[in-house]
Amino acid sequence: MNPALRSDLLTWYRLHARDLPWRNTNDPYRIWLSEIILQQTRVDQGRPYYERFTERFPTLKDLAQAQDEEVMKLWEGLGYYSRARNLLKAARLVQQTHNGHFPNTAEGLEKLPGIGPYTSAAIASFAFGQAIGVVDGNVFRLLSRLFDIDACIDEGKNRPVFQALANELIDKEVPGISNQALMEIGATICTPRPKCQKCPLQTHCLARERGTVDLRPVRKKRNKVKEETIDYLILLDGSGQMAIQQRAAQGIWAELFEPLHSAEHQVQPKLDQWHIDHRLTHRILHIRFQLCRLKTEKKPTNKHIIWVGADQRRSLAFPVPVLKAFAHWDL
Ligand code: SF4
Repeated sequence: MNPALRSDLLTWYRLHARDLPWRNTNDPYRIWLSEIILQQTRVDQGRPYYERFTERFPTLKDLAQAQDEEVMKLWEGLGYYSRARNLLKAARLVQQTHNGHFPNTAEGLEKLPGIGPYTSAAIASFAFGQAIGVVDGNVFRLLSRLFDIDACIDEGKNRPVFQALANELIDKEVPGISNQALMEIGATICTPRPKCQKCPLQTHCLARERGTVDLRPVRKKRNKVKEETIDYLILLDGSGQMAIQQRAAQGIWAELFEPLHSAEHQVQPKLDQWHIDHRLTHRILHIRFQLCRLKTEKKPTNKHIIWVGADQRRSLAFPVPVLKAFAHWDL
């Protein structure tokens, strides 16, 4: 590895790094929290969540003792809710079986719920100074261009190629900063539409030299986006209580709360209706809401239906489009 590449990388980072709250700490709890929040989430979207979580739960012990509902509510709107459930599981496990201390190697960290190769390397390197490369989606793209690699980045069998290059790029004196620097260039310069003119690594970049930047990284063909329809019934009784239910533990919005589904309940006199399209990674949901008020005293009940007043409802976590419907009717 050309040593000038490493030093160009670090010099650029020291001048251009964004000031992000989780970069000013080597507390493994805060670094772990930021990494879980930032999985599948943009920095500007994740930052307020990180601030709310660290304010409400300043230590691992605070989080380990939290009520599930409160954590889900704080996570509301961030999506991929299995992350929040794993967050709690991991906090409790570290608190109970590791005496409140995170394992200090990537290998040990990877045994915790919700921590894969990327997150374990990030925590081990940023918090404990382990010299292991952190290969997130942006770093895959950057390495693929920098070394002009034609191996597909979506195939697990190719991961070791990228991991080995990332490991080699690390300056052993400052592993955490080396990794942050690579990630920062991947996030801000070597973006899907790369800003090669501004890139501190342009003289080292093989794809730029060979004219293959637009061909890198090689990716699998994406599946077509699926479309689905959901019909919700927002059912209120005379006192303003609403009928809700909890979603199953699997699938999208697992274990979040939602209104009833129209098809499963008798048609009620309709007050109004509202429609929204909601985009998920591989799906577009067309969601229709019907707002209804019960005419009779007899409330529909079964083991899934929960009748809640506004205060209790506000303490539960709902999918974002449902919250938008509540806001639309000022419920
Ligand atoms: S020169 Fe362009 S393609 Fe190469 S690493 Fe820099 S931004 Fe990416």
